[in-house]
Amino acid sequence: MYSFKPLALRLALLAALCASPAFAEVPQKAPEIATAYAEKPGWTAKQFMVAAANPLAADAGYRMLKQGGGAIDAAIATQLVLTLVEPQSSGIGGGAFLLYADGQQVQAFDGRETAPAGADDTLFQNPDGSPVSRATGVVGGRSVGAPGVLRMLELAHKQHGKLAWATLFGPAIKLSQDGFPVSQRLHGLLKWDQALKRDPVAAAYFYDNDGQPLPIGYTLKNPELARTLREIAAGGADAFYHGRIARDIAAKVASHPTNPGKLTVRDIAGYQAKVRTPVCSHYKAWTVCGMPPPSSGGIAIAQMLGILETRDISRFPPVGGVPDARAIHLFTEAGRLAYADRNRYVADTDFVPLPGAGIAALLDKTYLAQRAGLIGDKSMRRAEAGTPPGMQVAWGLDNALQRPSTSHLVAVDAFGGGLSMTTSVEDAFGARQMVDGFLLNNQLTDFSFDARDASGPVANRVEPGKRPRSAMSPTLVFEKGTQKLVLATGSPGGSSIINYVAKVLVGTMDWGLNVQQAISLPNFGSRNGPTELEQGRIPAAQVDALRAMGHEVRISEQNSGLQGIMRLNAHGQDFWFGGADPRREGMVRGD
Ligand code: GLU
Repeated sequence: MYSFKPLALRLALLAALCASPAFAEVPQKAPEIATAYAEKPGWTAKQFMVAAANPLAADAGYRMLKQGGGAIDAAIATQLVLTLVEPQSSGIGGGAFLLYADGQQVQAFDGRETAPAGADDTLFQNPDGSPVSRATGVVGGRSVGAPGVLRMLELAHKQHGKLAWATLFGPAIKLSQDGFPVSQRLHGLLKWDQALKRDPVAAAYFYDNDGQPLPIGYTLKNPELARTLREIAAGGADAFYHGRIARDIAAKVASHPTNPGKLTVRDIAGYQAKVRTPVCSHYKAWTVCGMPPPSSGGIAIAQMLGILETRDISRFPPVGGVPDARAIHLFTEAGRLAYADRNRYVADTDFVPLPGAGIAALLDKTYLAQRAGLIGDKSMRRAEAGTPPGMQVAWGLDNALQRPSTSHLVAVDAFGGGLSMTTSVEDAFGARQMVDGFLLNNQLTDFSFDARDASGPVANRVEPGKRPRSAMSPTLVFEKGTQKLVLATGSPGGSSIINYVAKVLVGTMDWGLNVQQAISLPNFGSRNGPTELEQGRIPAAQVDALRAMGHEVRISEQNSGLQGIMRLNAHGQDFWFGGADPRREGMVRGD
């Protein structure tokens, strides 16, 4: 946990707390809207709020808050419904990270999947040592890690839940029994995916007799999931990690006809969620807290902000929702530097130490100022990893697969609690293996397929019991000094998550946008390759200006799924303002 201040100091700050401003509401023009982009208005509330990637899921969370539940209760009810209505992205067969603040402390809950005891660094290699193909990596039993979502949520609920565990399952059980309308996005992904229908259980559930995806609006019932959820509601997470469900998962993984995996009932039974210390750093007037390893997100975002702080990106705000090319230049150069370190150094720190003195070395102000010194008027195009203070080991370069799926939710409650949670089955529909009404993750493909290169062993290589490195970046921002939560945000998007979330942070903290405007801004960033710009949303003049600065520009979909809640202040009154990504089906509910 990250504790804010000693008690005496905290009390001394209370008076200031009442007087201190939240983000002031800055009027801004709405961003430019591209086609196939559903504009969202942003939502306000006074007491509590939840935002999620699907309206039914957000509604479940809202109902918990309305019944007197806290943010953790809302997150659990929301996640359980997401398992049903957004199975392409997350579910109880996957993993998650959750950052929670209650005004006194910030905790990072780690529900990341673990590699089976029987796995080693040849897991994703052919007999000759070459990496397996993407399809072999993802689809089947091989990529399935021990799921972490339920153990993590149970741990958070034991510490902070206000409603009974079983109550949180009500909306998901009812929707599983009675059915829910297949959404446009679920239908679209079912149509696009070719591997899911090869699993007979998934084929019978998601497709009709002719192998066509169920149509938009079809009422889909999932009695298997209703049974599973009823058992977990009654028996706690133990009902998932021991007994019928665990046996079914292990049997499904082992019995895959062409690509079996190594996950056993022992691996599942032994799964442990962890509470870690978040990565917190100061940026201008704020304290920004993110997820520590096994996520690379918190460190990379803190590095980007630390680098940008020396260049003051606030000088180049967007105009009419269009980002300035000079801002994109600074942002993408900072991104290159941060991703270079991430790709080489960050992995599960329970197995692999970070270079030098750990997180502190990677966030060392002098080190980041040196890194920022590499930014010139022309793009560096590709950055090398730096040498943080005290570093001794040489690491090889990671080549994990990351393809967009995943979901993000945020919630604030009436008791001073707030959270940000990113949750994932990794690829769309995970390993494409359905069991007991839910899908299994393929999170192990977030490990590097190669175990070493000429520079040395790869930090993120597969090891038994290890957690694959993630980019998931649930983030909470506090007003520096007062510990007041002012922003909760995060996104799916594979390794681009770091850029998506950093865009919202810069948008709100540097450019004075509200969270909806910041989410809706066109996406841009670099993962230490080309400068990636969201298709159809950045005018040619900006692209030309970037090319003139030496950028190799790639225009692509950049499909984030950002959600955010921020504290705003108007006429001396604080209130919550929530935003959901126009690129997905999310929405915000609150009172
Ligand atoms: N598996 C990825 C990670 O943990 C997230 C995948 C996604 O966002 O699509 O970083």
